[in-house]
Amino acid sequence: MSELFECTICCETENRDFRKITSKCTHQSVICADCVNNYIKKNVFEKQLIEIPCFTNGCNKIMERHDIKNIATEEVFEKYNNRLYL
Ligand SMILES: [Zn+2]
Ligand SMILES: [Zn+2]
Repeated sequence: MSELFECTICCETENRDFRKITSKCTHQSVICADCVNNYIKKNVFEKQLIEIPCFTNGCNKIMERHDIKNIATEEVFEKYNNRLYL
């Protein structure tokens, strides 16, 4: 892959990792994994949410456990997982 995408949140193109946010997303991945992780952290730790919608414009599909496992770091996934089974 030679095409460089720019993350719509942090505007970085270098070493960005783009993955599908939820398996139901039909749009292109325009938000890098780092930004998705920050977003998950904010929702899980600050807002105490476990239902986290995809935050790509107009998508709002709920990120399920397997989606979060796929995109989040181990640390973020573990915290999410702990919340899930509280
Ligand atoms: Zn980003
Ligand atoms: Zn989406």
